[in-house]
Amino acid sequence: MSAQSAEFNRLTGVTIVGGGTAGWVTAMILNSALNGRSDGPRVGITVIESPNVPTVGVGESTVPGMPRLLKQLGIDETQFMRQCNASFKLGVRFVHWHEDAAGRPLEYFNLFNSPAAIHGLSPAYHFHRFAGPERYDEFADALVPTSDLIRARRGPRGLEQGDYESQVGYAYHVDAALFALFLRDICVARGVEHVLDDVVEVQQGENGFITALKLKERGLVPVQLVVDCTGFRSRIIGQVLEEPFESYSDLLLCDRALAQQIPHPEPGEIEPCTRSTALGAGWSWRVPLHSRVGTGYVFSSRFRSDEEAIREFLDFLGPQAKDAEPKVIRMRIGRMRRHWVKNCVAIGLSSGFIEPLEATAIYMIETAARWLVRHFPDRAMSPVLAESYNTLTNTLYEEIRDFIVLHYYSTNRKEPFWLAARQEIELPASLAERLELWRTTLPNTVDTTGDRLFDYWNYLNVLYCKGTFRDRSYALEGSASRDDWDAFTRRQANFKRRLVAGLPDHFELLESIRSAADQAENRHVVPPAIAALAAASRSTVPLPDWGGEAAA
Ligand SMILES: Cc1cc2nc3c(=O)[nH]c(=O)nc-3n(C[C@H](O)[C@H](O)[C@H](O)COP(=O)(O)OP(=O)(O)OC[C@H]3O[C@@H](n4cnc5c(N)ncnc54)[C@H](O)[C@@H]3O)c2cc1C
Repeated sequence: MSAQSAEFNRLTGVTIVGGGTAGWVTAMILNSALNGRSDGPRVGITVIESPNVPTVGVGESTVPGMPRLLKQLGIDETQFMRQCNASFKLGVRFVHWHEDAAGRPLEYFNLFNSPAAIHGLSPAYHFHRFAGPERYDEFADALVPTSDLIRARRGPRGLEQGDYESQVGYAYHVDAALFALFLRDICVARGVEHVLDDVVEVQQGENGFITALKLKERGLVPVQLVVDCTGFRSRIIGQVLEEPFESYSDLLLCDRALAQQIPHPEPGEIEPCTRSTALGAGWSWRVPLHSRVGTGYVFSSRFRSDEEAIREFLDFLGPQAKDAEPKVIRMRIGRMRRHWVKNCVAIGLSSGFIEPLEATAIYMIETAARWLVRHFPDRAMSPVLAESYNTLTNTLYEEIRDFIVLHYYSTNRKEPFWLAARQEIELPASLAERLELWRTTLPNTVDTTGDRLFDYWNYLNVLYCKGTFRDRSYALEGSASRDDWDAFTRRQANFKRRLVAGLPDHFELLESIRSAADQAENRHVVPPAIAALAAASRSTVPLPDWGGEAAA
């Protein structure tokens, strides 16, 4: 195709319906990638957001790819932290997901850093041979230094270090409502059009492609490519295009959530991790932001009525929950059969949702938007693009589904919900095959290759810390040397001491980041500095490598 015809065929507009996290993250990524450096005509990006339908209002914990995304988008991390009341996340603390032989609750961490090999051999084999499989719940602690940072409530970088610098892997906790507003303001400053109106009708041509959206106030708006970010209601892909929804309820039993914001019990002490505490019919999240704590209970309506769940949750929270009235959210767990249908691509909750145990949804939104860029169509809207996009997206859903199923499958709790969660399900073949493999080897790098969010270390950690490998021995243990292990543990202990001594208190770090005098609590207006950066960004923000690198 000649450059001239490529330009002629180029779409001139993308219409995103929905102004939640999905809508704004997608707008931000599309705008940066398509308009960041282009000499050709801009692709106009419009976000239509209902003034009447609220956003889901949750989604406050993220995964370690998030700092990289913000950096690629040319976002000032300090402003992001201040305006979204963000805090740092160094891992997830799993509490009472497992019990020891005497029925005592155990806890373990899922940490972002993975250990280096010892002379080519995973130190997991050394641990198994020399530290003893009976100490399984100490596995992550022994191999990765960051659990000590979490216990000591340390931040990931020194007070003198700048944006995106860090000694260890980190993600964020972020106020969901403020984050959407923060992104909206930057998007608008960068040229994205924001329309506050309701889509009340969708018009289609003879081939079923969407030709126009009818808005309550503005009337008909013609469209070329529509991104459905309308949340669980899937207003376009589900209600208009009638794409079937494939439920995961036979694998994942939780279908409801309670959400509640509470004050910090001790405002100067902010744990730099998300907590996940198993309860009678699900688990409770605890996401400490700078300003408050976001908490909730993900549970199964088969095992708890809403009233029973609320009682159990408030008992669990204790005095912190005084006057609390948790919001009840119905969760639709599963995915659309296809996410790109005709000229509509669903991103965010409208495309599907796997429960929030590993805080993967915002990452999935980011990945979907990156893949849309890689598959960006012209007016011919080749079905091959949609096919490839749908295959990738379904594979991602299945990867994440498997990892979440594994959390439930590997527990030993005995309440009816927990028994059902592991006994009533038929493991997906993809997971069953791996578990079989891991009877003879511990999970290792070659088992999880490619564009994956969860690597071998995540699987190894979750399984090892729950005692799955306790009674097994592995051929490769014979290659582990005692001297190597002793040297490793000495180095590790030194490194932990240095890290804890050298890094500041998490709260102190957040305060220093927020210390600019003009910062007002909960302020979401983009201050002049970032607005200027945003305005200049069409020419100065480095163009991210949208086509090459994996999003993990
Ligand atoms: C209990 C729970 C906990 C979660 N925790 C996490 C977490 O820790 N980490 C994480 O990454 N994710 C989490 N998620 C997922 C996360 O909340 C969502 O992925 C994220 O908020 C994106 O939501 P959304 O933008 O797709 O939908 P929504 O926030 O529901 O936004 C939908 C938008 O569509 C608009 N809209 C709807 N209908 C129309 C219409 N007809 N016309 C115009 N506009 C319309 C609405 O006004 C709104 O702006 C959680 C989800 C749940 C349910």
